[in-house]
Amino acid sequence: MPTNTNNRSPKAETVHSPLDIDRIKADFPILKEKVNNHRLVYLDSAATSQKPETVINAVTDYYRRKNANIHRGIHYLAEKATAAYELTRERVAGFIGGVDPSEVVFTRGTTEGINLIAYTWAEHNINEGDEIVITEMEHHANLVPWVVLAQKKKAALRRIPITICGHLDLSHIDDIITSKTKLVSVTHMSNVLGTINPVEEIARLAHRQGAVVLVDGAQAAPHMTVDVKAMDADFYVFSSHKMLGPTGVGVLYGKKHILESMPPFNMGGEMIREVRFDRVTWNEVPHKFEAGTPDIANVVAFEAALSYLELLGMDRIREHEIALTRYAIERLSELEGLEIQGPQEPELRGGAISFTDPTIHPHDISTFLDTRGIAIRAGHHCAQPLMRILGKVATARASLYIYNDEADVDALIEALIEMRRYFGA
Ligand code: PLP
Repeated sequence: MPTNTNNRSPKAETVHSPLDIDRIKADFPILKEKVNNHRLVYLDSAATSQKPETVINAVTDYYRRKNANIHRGIHYLAEKATAAYELTRERVAGFIGGVDPSEVVFTRGTTEGINLIAYTWAEHNINEGDEIVITEMEHHANLVPWVVLAQKKKAALRRIPITICGHLDLSHIDDIITSKTKLVSVTHMSNVLGTINPVEEIARLAHRQGAVVLVDGAQAAPHMTVDVKAMDADFYVFSSHKMLGPTGVGVLYGKKHILESMPPFNMGGEMIREVRFDRVTWNEVPHKFEAGTPDIANVVAFEAALSYLELLGMDRIREHEIALTRYAIERLSELEGLEIQGPQEPELRGGAISFTDPTIHPHDISTFLDTRGIAIRAGHHCAQPLMRILGKVATARASLYIYNDEADVDALIEALIEMRRYFGA
C-alpha cells in the first residue's frame, strides 16, 4: 500500500490479496527507524501498535484545519470538529457490527471503559451475596476493578479456570455461572496466551441466568471481525492505540437500554441536560458519559485507523495473522526447551505469543533482542494471577500485527539462537 502524504485513507484498489506486507510496512514511518544499528523489528503490538502515516497526518490535519471544541460552539470550526468527532463514532458503530452510534461511548481506553462500568452499572446493580464471574486469564484492567468491587459489596468473585492448553475450561460452567451471577466479564482474546475465548457461548450461558456480559476486546478488536450483536455482549470495550489509532482513546459499546439505565460516571460539562442549584438532569446517551472536553484530535484520527483496517479487511488481517502465527510457533518450536504458552493451533488464538527459555530470564531475552533491533515485551503482562497459575514470574512475548512478516519472525529466531550462544545456554 503506498504511503499517503495527505490525510486520506489508503485506496481499496491498491490493496491486494493476500496482504502486501512490504507495502503496508512502507505506510509506517517508524518502521524505517534504526534501533541499535539494526532494522526495527517491532513485535510488541499487543502492548501498542505502530501508526500509519494516514493516522499521524490525521492528528496534525485536525490541529491545522479543524481545531475547536465540540458540541458547543455555533461557528464553522466547531461544527467541523463536531462532525469529524461524530464521524468516528459512526465508523466505530459500523466496525463492531453495525450498532446504533449512540451506543458508542468514547473513553480513554479499555481500562477506563471497564472502570466506567464498575463505577456506574456495577456499583448500582451488584449487592451483597451476588457473584461476578471472570476468567483466570484476565488482564488487570478486567480484574482489579472486580476484586475491589466484590470486596466493597461483599459479593463473590468467581472464575472460569483454564485448561493446561490455555483454553477456558467450561466443563463446570453451570456451577460457576448461576442465578447468583450478576456480571460475567471475560476477555475476548488473552494478551498472554493468545487464546480466543468463546464469548458467544459464555454470553448465552450468562444471559440464561439473567447476568450482564462485559467483553474485554482490547486484544481482539485490532485483529478480527467483531460483531457485538452476534455475540450478544451487553458491553464491549477496546482501545484505539492497539489498532493503529492514537493513544488516549477507547471505546465502550453498551446496549442502549442498559446505558440509559446507568448513572453517569464523570460529572461536568456536556453530560447534562439541565443544571440548577438543587437538581441536575442528564444528557442523553452517549453524551451522558462524555463529561468535559474529550481527546478530540485523537478521536478524529482514530477514524483514519479504522479506515485503514477496513480497507485491508479484518478477515484478511485475521488470515494473515493465522498464517504468521503458525509460522512463528513452528519456528520457535525449533528451539529446544523453549516453552510456548497458550493454544498451539493458530486458528484458536491470536498472534501474541508468550514463551520462556529454560535458563534465560525473559527480561534478559528482551534486553538481548533489543540490541538486535527487536522489540518484544517481557514481564507479567498485567496478568499476575495468570502468571502464578502458569508457574512463571514472567514470560517473553512476541506479538504480531499487519506489518509483520516471516522475515521478522526469522530475525527473532536468529537473535534467540545468537542469545543462547551469548549466554552459553
Ligand atoms: N485488556 C487486555 C486484554 C489488554 O491486553 C490490555 C492492554 O494491554 C488492557 C485490557 C488495557 O488496555 P489499555 O491499557 O489500553 O486501557
